[in-house]
Amino acid sequence: MIKNINIKTRTRNEFVDITAEIQSLIDEAGIKSGICHVYVPHTTAGVTVNEGADPSVMKDIQNTLTRLVPHKGPYFHTEGNSDAHIKTSIVGSSQAIIIDGGKLLLGTWQSVFFCEFDGPRHRRITVKIAGD
Ligand code: ZN
Repeated sequence: MIKNINIKTRTRNEFVDITAEIQSLIDEAGIKSGICHVYVPHTTAGVTVNEGADPSVMKDIQNTLTRLVPHKGPYFHTEGNSDAHIKTSIVGSSQAIIIDGGKLLLGTWQSVFFCEFDGPRHRRITVKIAGD
């Protein structure tokens, strides 16, 4: 089964914890053992798995990406959002997470984050849940 999560981001760079939304899709599907594939069908937003307990970790990741890939650079792409395209390729567009006992098999401190790099926008996250 394929499900969508729709979100509205509020700032240009923003990480949104989507762990609970994904878990409710798994609950809804009644899948106890399998794989959850989280895919972001956008060129300026991605998805990552990292620490959800201390919000300063995601802030550090966001700030470091911005330091590595500045908004204004010498870029060829004329839309003014090359930094967002590059950051998206760095974090990636998908994550595959194991489902065990009906739960996402995440480490104690791990959460799944949608990564907005060119907001605010309406965004879609596609989730494929496979298993039994
Ligand atoms: Zn662009």
